[in-house]
Amino acid sequence: MLNLISERQLADPQDIEAIQGEHNLSGESVNKLLNAQGVLDTASQLEVMAEYLGTDVIDVSAIEFSDELLELIPAEIAKNNHCIPIGVDGETLHLCLVDPLNPTILDDLAFQLNKPLQVRIADPAAVQKLIDEKYSEEEESYQQLVDAFEASKNAVSDEDSIAAKINKLRGRDPSGEVEEEAPEALEILEEVGDEAPIVRFVNMILYQALKDSAADIHFEPFEDTYQIRMKVDGSMKIMTPPPKELAPAIASRLKIMAGVNIAERRIPQDGRIQETIAGLELVFRMSTLPTKFGESVVLRLLDSSNDDLTSLEALSIPEKIDYSIRHCVEQPNGVFLVTGPTGSGKTTTLYACLRMLNTVETKILTAEDPVEFPVEGIVQCHIVESMGMSFAKALKSFLRQDPDIILVGEMRDLETAAIGIEAALTGHLVVSTLHTNSSTEAITRLLDMGVEPFMISSSVNGILAQRLCKTICPKCKVSNKVTPDQQKMLRLKDEEVTGDLYYGTGCDACSNTGYRGRRGIYEALVMNDEIRNLIADRTPALELRDKCVEAGMQTLRIDGLRLMFEGTSTFEEVMKYT
Ligand SMILES: [Zn+2]
Repeated sequence: MLNLISERQLADPQDIEAIQGEHNLSGESVNKLLNAQGVLDTASQLEVMAEYLGTDVIDVSAIEFSDELLELIPAEIAKNNHCIPIGVDGETLHLCLVDPLNPTILDDLAFQLNKPLQVRIADPAAVQKLIDEKYSEEEESYQQLVDAFEASKNAVSDEDSIAAKINKLRGRDPSGEVEEEAPEALEILEEVGDEAPIVRFVNMILYQALKDSAADIHFEPFEDTYQIRMKVDGSMKIMTPPPKELAPAIASRLKIMAGVNIAERRIPQDGRIQETIAGLELVFRMSTLPTKFGESVVLRLLDSSNDDLTSLEALSIPEKIDYSIRHCVEQPNGVFLVTGPTGSGKTTTLYACLRMLNTVETKILTAEDPVEFPVEGIVQCHIVESMGMSFAKALKSFLRQDPDIILVGEMRDLETAAIGIEAALTGHLVVSTLHTNSSTEAITRLLDMGVEPFMISSSVNGILAQRLCKTICPKCKVSNKVTPDQQKMLRLKDEEVTGDLYYGTGCDACSNTGYRGRRGIYEALVMNDEIRNLIADRTPALELRDKCVEAGMQTLRIDGLRLMFEGTSTFEEVMKYT
């Protein structure tokens, strides 16, 4: 540029030299310096460039940048070469460059775009601004993240850089398998998860998911890459991968948002992310899975209209029971049973579990009579015994389909139970229901069917018994003291009466019933060695039950009392169901 000006004697040689010096020193663009120091204004500079290149000066603010136009130069190329398309003339693509005088850029571009190019001249600052504006936020955030990371990598001596912090973590974790986290790991993870570029990057991914109506987002660490994929209309869309080294920072960010323990990187965790993005309230279910190369994170965008039906959290399951359920179903194999009479919400609970486990990495097959909740991503089969499609038959064919998880609507006969248990013993998770009143009775029922005790003791992970109690209408709720009769009927000692009783007097809101809605009560039997031995020894039902309670199992009655004393349900409901 300066040469051109000098040749044309448009400025004093001393001024030109001064600007050359300052440009070398500060790196500030020659165009800006010329303008700022009043040597040559922008308009004149543009004229000089246009004349030199045999083209003209245009006003980019007058151009309408349609998507079709912008797509003529892919975002990545536009960003890297600081150029933007402004129109086409036959085969020739017209474009503006931030640095039109650099001959190599134009050659590279012509090669990359594989078409003839015509440069037009416009204010470099305006062109750069347009590139920043017109090419999507996605590219920008990616670029910012990559830039921030690269910059911090070059400054490894800087203790505060993202790269330095992550290196500290990696130092203790050379095999990719975390043995014992040092105390400061938590702090480091928290810090990197709060770094501005990481926060922006994650927000951008969530925004993209919203824009594309993605069903779920997968963050997957591999040996050399960190892959991010979104499931849009049933197919996977791969995003530009960020530097692999940032994987722990991104996982930390997601865990912070979901409110789970960020220091825990060895066991799977579940949480919920609630974010307002572009004015919309979004809820994602987050689950983490430790893998050989780091934590894999899956976000599932919850469909709020459907969520109430099937999310484990929406069922208001007490924390201890929730933990027991997750413990049983997050194992790669074994049997998890839910028991209770018809209408006790067994299927809803099982579906909440499946929904939690339903990721693209997992193949889930169900045999149901009938299919109650259609769920995307799960292969569901309708059982019609009269047509010869029995549970047992479906199960046999399932095993040839290589599933990870199998739902059997009900274990109603020996054949079905035997095949289900067999499947559990050969590396599948099998979830099913049984019509029994308590968790321990499920064991007795299986024995009565003719299942061998050792088959039960070696395959069952746990059994959940449940009931649905009606909940008190909040509009007409009143309280009463516990009467001596009631206390006697509940067989409670004085110190076990921990509050008043509540009921609804009846109002318009509850059609004078005093009740609105229902809530589950639960009893979870989680297997341990002692219980396995008792089952293998054919311990009688009542004795088995006592031992389970001794081992810490809370009975349906205990959970019912909780609902009663907290004023959620009534004495009558608890007596009826427990
Ligand atoms: Zn009411």
